[in-house]
Amino acid sequence: MRQFFLIFFLLFIICNAQNYKLTGEAIQGSIIIGSAENVLGVYLNNKPVPVDKNGRFVIGFDRNEKGLRKLKIKFKDGSVKTERLTIKKRKYEIQRLKIKDGYVNPPEEEMERIERELEIMKVARKKIGQVDSMMFDDGFVMPVEGGRIKSVFGSQRILNGIPKKPHNGIDIGDVEEGTPVKAAADGIVVLAGENFYFNGNFVLIDHGLGLNTIYLHLNKLYVTDGQFVKKGEVIGEVGSTGRTTGPHLHWGVQLYSKRIDPLSILNLSAN
Ligand SMILES: [Zn+2]
Repeated sequence: MRQFFLIFFLLFIICNAQNYKLTGEAIQGSIIIGSAENVLGVYLNNKPVPVDKNGRFVIGFDRNEKGLRKLKIKFKDGSVKTERLTIKKRKYEIQRLKIKDGYVNPPEEEMERIERELEIMKVARKKIGQVDSMMFDDGFVMPVEGGRIKSVFGSQRILNGIPKKPHNGIDIGDVEEGTPVKAAADGIVVLAGENFYFNGNFVLIDHGLGLNTIYLHLNKLYVTDGQFVKKGEVIGEVGSTGRTTGPHLHWGVQLYSKRIDPLSILNLSAN
């Protein structure tokens, strides 16, 4: 009888454990993966954060995000755990260049097309978040083998004195046209875009809970909208379509619309 009570008591403790784990750090351009048992809700500065059915969630910090964030985890027994996260700042590369005007501004006759493509992109990005489970619990892989990182995340060019949009990903160069490009993790293809002015042929993948990756300037596309892809599955080939100066893969990562450094997610795993 005593043994029975002991087992019952231990089960009670395990089932009511308010355990949680956070993987990652609060740094500009990075994410933290969380998992919690018996979780009721997660809030970042009082705003609800999506939690999947296994109690997993993701929070992230944009390239320029600053300040203190309060992460609140509410458990089913009514208890609450709070973590205060101060976002660490990063230093980004700034490049000042003087170049011919033709490259700074796209030609007037392309503006309508660019607007149309921006709209398609906006519609696609609105779908991000529909996948309500973490499909990347197995971690991430580099989308191309070999090559060299030619341009890092967050770097900014100032062309003829005008600051341009910061680099929203990494460029992997020194790879031959036709090199396979792989999905960084399991996910659903939200958009396989063809021949966009800036992006060329590209693939946007939703990995769940708001986390998404994009692969630009592809030579060939092997996937279509709505398709499920496995981590490491070949989705296309390295190319130089769209506005590029040569064959390379631009790989971008976002948490919803927060810009995340692709290199920061490679060592993260929920397990
Ligand atoms: Zn790029």
